[in-house]
Amino acid sequence: MTTQPSELFDANPEPELPPNWLNVVARKKLGQPQEWRWCKFEMIGDTDDCVVEGGIPRLLLSGRRKGQATWRDCELTKCVVTKAEYDQAKVDYEVETGKCHDCAGSRLRLDGWSADTGNRFKPCLRCNATGKAPEVTQ
Ligand SMILES: [Zn+2]
Repeated sequence: MTTQPSELFDANPEPELPPNWLNVVARKKLGQPQEWRWCKFEMIGDTDDCVVEGGIPRLLLSGRRKGQATWRDCELTKCVVTKAEYDQAKVDYEVETGKCHDCAGSRLRLDGWSADTGNRFKPCLRCNATGKAPEVTQ
């Protein structure tokens, strides 16, 4: 990659991020809409499974956290998300979209975040920065 990230971001300030897989699985199991987001999850004992709880957040209209999401006073639903279901969500995504599940076809994956810099990205290694799902031949 010879393109500097900053040049890339001028044209496209935020590359598309892959879906949050916990949300994808939990929404499907709970029959919730796209707006549903988890706000709490807990691993179950020593397993790779977890309990996810969430709801449709609302945005804070005032205060220090203005514009951020809150789940306070929202109706919460919860379900178990197993490791297998979590992994399957990624497989399903690639079959459906043909895009690499790590970078959502943007060729960049999230490398970190801080309050100063916001999201930081680096080229996706899983798809060799092609954005395509490695196993899918089109
Ligand atoms: Zn990728």
